[in-house]
Amino acid sequence: MGKEYVPYWQKLKDPRWQRKRLEIMERDGFACVVCRDKVSPLTVHHGYYEKGLEPWEYPSETLWTLCESCHDIETEQRVRVERIVGHIRPGLATGNLCQNMESLVKDFDENMGLLKDAHAEDVAALRRLEPTEAQQ
Ligand SMILES: [Zn+2]
Repeated sequence: MGKEYVPYWQKLKDPRWQRKRLEIMERDGFACVVCRDKVSPLTVHHGYYEKGLEPWEYPSETLWTLCESCHDIETEQRVRVERIVGHIRPGLATGNLCQNMESLVKDFDENMGLLKDAHAEDVAALRRLEPTEAQQ
C-alpha cells in the first residue's frame, strides 16, 4: 500500500493547505507577525517540520504569517537553532530537558493567551462604540 509520492510544491496547491493558509493569514490580520508589513507578499511559515505530516496537518499555533524578508531571516535563525540543538548530547534530549522546554512553551502560550484576551477586550470595546457613533 505505497503512498503515491507528491512533491512538496504540489502539496502546497492542495485545497486543504490553501484553506489552512487563509485561516492563518486571517488570524494574523493579513500582516507579517514580525514587522506588521501588509504590503509585501505574505507567506505562511511552518515553525517546525515533522516527517509524515502534510503541510496542512500542523497545529495552527505553529504556523505564522511572514513577509518574504522576515521569512528569509526566520529561516536562517531556525538553522542556527537546529545547529544549537545538534550539540545536545544524545540521551540528554529526553526527560528533563524536553519537559523544561515544553513547560517554557506552555508558559509562553499561556502568556500569549492573556495577550489575545486583552486584544479581544479591545475589539469588544470598539464594537460597543460603533452603535453609539451610528446613532449620532
Ligand atoms: Zn516582516
